[in-house]
Amino acid sequence: METLPFGKTGETLSALGFGAAPLGGAYGPVTGDGGRAAVRRALELGVTVFDTSPYYGATLSETRLGAALEGARDEVFLITKCGRYGEAEFDFSPGRVAKSIDESLGRLRTDRVDLLLVHDVEFGDTGRIIDETLPALMAAKDAGKARYVGVSGYPLSALEEIAAAFPIDAVLSYCHGNLMDRTLFDSLLPACTSRGQAVINASTLHMGVLTDSGPPPWHPAPVEVREVAQAIARLCKEHGREITDVALQFAMARPGLACTLVGVESAGEIERNVEALAHQVDEGLLAAIDALVEPVRDRTWPSGHWA
Ligand code: NAD
Repeated sequence: METLPFGKTGETLSALGFGAAPLGGAYGPVTGDGGRAAVRRALELGVTVFDTSPYYGATLSETRLGAALEGARDEVFLITKCGRYGEAEFDFSPGRVAKSIDESLGRLRTDRVDLLLVHDVEFGDTGRIIDETLPALMAAKDAGKARYVGVSGYPLSALEEIAAAFPIDAVLSYCHGNLMDRTLFDSLLPACTSRGQAVINASTLHMGVLTDSGPPPWHPAPVEVREVAQAIARLCKEHGREITDVALQFAMARPGLACTLVGVESAGEIERNVEALAHQVDEGLLAAIDALVEPVRDRTWPSGHWA
């Protein structure tokens, strides 16, 4: 597995990271044994980054990940979050941050996480996140409970406003660095890397849109985006390729990222995704995909207080 620098820290991460939202059932039912097998297979394949949150499956993802990583904690770069606890349940207050990290450490069966992120900052007040929430994360860092701190969310402008104002170590962006939406690569990525902040690119499959079976019912993308993705899946098949392989190869060919996260719910999926990294995206196929994507390229949806 290729490794990439984590900002200016001198550490390196596996280029592909394990997104553990599916372990909490975000994309459909996953058994405890199935989730555990996926995590153990990822470790065998050299994946060292694992991302979770108390929000995923109302803490189930953290609990399952903590159990599956038992005995391997020192081999991995473990990421969790604070501030989001349900679909519409947010609490970015310093008191809740302090309690949240302690609860997460218990579920994850460890005394520290490698990266602690404020989860979905666009649902909070930006000024208060900068003045109150992030200082609380820094207190957790000072106490040795988190080695690095940062923010995650959807609107790139919300992430950039905070990253420019507070010396966070990392930013996690999702659904902006893949075949359907490439705006991360032109805006937040160069801004953060110029400041030495690591950028983690999540949802390379556009939260399931770029798969043969398509996204889950809760997916916020407009119907035109889903239809184009299904046309891409058919085109890939005609070329003897899998849409998930092509989507990963496309996203991971971009320089400057610290890590790319893909959500995984089975050992077979992580095997397939790691295997895809051994190959390059075909330029001819990519040009044909670009033509399909063009009418809906970079199409976004509202999230939090940001349109
Ligand atoms: P994703 O784009 O990675 O898609 C995940 C879906 O694709 C799942 O249904 C998974 O089973 C499926 N899949 C994966 N590999 C496959 C394969 N080879 N063949 C067929 N299907 C395959 O979406 P995601 O999981 O939402 O994003 C990745 C991770 O990034 C999350 O799990 C989470 O850890 C993180 N994330 C964080 C935030 C945030 O902090 N706000 C937001 C989104 C994602």
